[in-house]
Parts: sequence; C-alpha cells; structure tokens
Amino acid sequence: MQTRLEEILEKGQEKVPYGKTADYIPELGRRDPNHLGICVFTKDGKKYQAGDSQIRFTIQSISKVINLAAALEQRGFDYVFSKVGMEPSGEAFNSLVELDLTSSYPFNPMINSGAIAIASFLQPIMDFEEMLDFSRRLCMDPEITLDEAVCRSEMSHASRNRAIAYLLESKGIIENDVEKSLQLYIKLCSLSVTAESLANLGLILACGGINPVTGERLLKEDVVRVIKTIMFTCGMYDGSGTSAVYVGLPAKSGVGGGILSLADKKMGIGIYGPSLDQKGNSIAGQEMLRLLSKELKLHLFA
Ligand code: GLU
Repeated sequence: MQTRLEEILEKGQEKVPYGKTADYIPELGRRDPNHLGICVFTKDGKKYQAGDSQIRFTIQSISKVINLAAALEQRGFDYVFSKVGMEPSGEAFNSLVELDLTSSYPFNPMINSGAIAIASFLQPIMDFEEMLDFSRRLCMDPEITLDEAVCRSEMSHASRNRAIAYLLESKGIIENDVEKSLQLYIKLCSLSVTAESLANLGLILACGGINPVTGERLLKEDVVRVIKTIMFTCGMYDGSGTSAVYVGLPAKSGVGGGILSLADKKMGIGIYGPSLDQKGNSIAGQEMLRLLSKELKLHLFA
C-alpha cells in the first residue's frame, strides 16, 4: 500500500500545474499550489501516508459534513430536512440563482446556502467551542484550531455568503441572528486540519460512526448513512456526477484543497492539494482519488 500511495502521489503531481489556488478568499491564494499529500487509514488500524499529509490547511467546505452531522444528531432528520433539501443543485457552491428563482429552500447541505441555514439553527444550541470539540473528536485530532488569518480574510470578503444568508432570512429559512449564523459558518470553514485528520474522519464514517480504534460510538448509524449518501450525490460541487462515475466513492471537497473520502466498511481517505480546478475541487487530489479507487477496486459499483 505504501509503494502504491507514493506512485499515486507522483502521478497526481503531474496534474498540479493545470489548476490554481482559490483566490476569492485572499489568504487561500497565498498557499503553495505544489503541496500534495494523501493519507489512508484502514479498518484494521493501519495508516499509510505520502507527501504533504501533515501540512495544516483550512477545512473549508468539508466542515459541511461536520455541520450536517451535528445537526442530524441534535435536531434529527425531519427537522433538518424541513429546512434544507437533499437534491444535487448542478450549480456552483456559492450560487444564489437556484435558491432565489427555483426553490424556496436550499437544495442540499453541501452547498453554502444549505450549510449557512444549518449553522443558523445550530448556533443557539452548539456554540463555536462545542463545534470545535466535536470536530476534534470526529477527526481524532486534538490539534485542530481556528486559523485566525483565514477566518479574518473570509470575514472581510463575505459579500456573497452574506447575500445568501440574508436571502435565506427573507425566505424564512433563517429565523435566528443572521450575522451570528454567518460567523459560525465561516469559523467552521476556517478550522485547520491535515490529510491525516480527514482520513480519520473518513474511517469513522466508513465504520458507521464508530471509532474503530477505541470502539467509541461518535455518531448514530442512520445519521452516518444519510451523510455518506449526500456526500456521494452532492459532495464534489457541480462535479459530483463526474466523481460518482470515475471514482464511485462518497467524497467531500473544500476550496482549501482538501478532499475527505472513504470506502465503506474498509478505509478513510484524506487528501490535500490546494491547486484547484474550475469547479473548486483539488485537481491532483481528484486524480489521486480516482487512481486509488481504480487500483484497489473501491468503486461502489465495481
Ligand atoms: N468558506 C468557503 C465559502 O464559503 C467554503 C467554500 C468551499 O470550500 O466550497 O465560500
């Protein structure tokens, strides 16, 4: 497995020059686009890493998985899906169009409108410190902290997310303080993780919510089933269909360059590569995930 990961990393590196770092959040634009790392954590407790798997970067949209997990655990399925849909949007992650014109509520929890709506009803019951603690436990990573520089940078360039949040308020989806909801959403996007933390989270999801190392149950089994399904259909922005065909695994990416993925009942996978394609997915990360899935025959319908 170790040799295989190193070969996959080398092939991934060839794709790096074809992408670029996200720059709509200026602090993300300052990341080294050449960083690339992968970590695989298998159910029998073995961990394999190659490249920059220990470099910290911000979780960005992958926090939407943690957000959804907290919401389903705290408020239950019916409440969450009375506020947010479960359909792929086919639009960019930060689009306002479909929300305004075709739907009275966000398409799914993996796009900004859905995650901001969820943050709004989480915020009175789980504050940032509690969400940080929850994230650390799910990622088996006590070193996760708030990246203040990225958080400040996003806060001062949040016009689009602020527009989404106020549109949600106008539609009656957000009933709590809009600015506080937005602040919680942005802080969660600014948590610093590694490819290893994502592989840890992936393994917990792959194992139905149980930490296989300690045997502790962290999430209910039916909550995890919903999360994995929504990751599969909506996790890679408007590239989710392509990823489902070529990779065939539940996955969620973030504009910080991370990808969280898993092979059910087998392994968690974490990737970091901040050079992104036009849809906001790590360009080399997707290639590495495709190769890993192909070589280990992990595709759900292999
Ligand atoms: N914090 C980013 C935003 O709201 C997250 C986007 C992403 O990773 O897709 O724009």
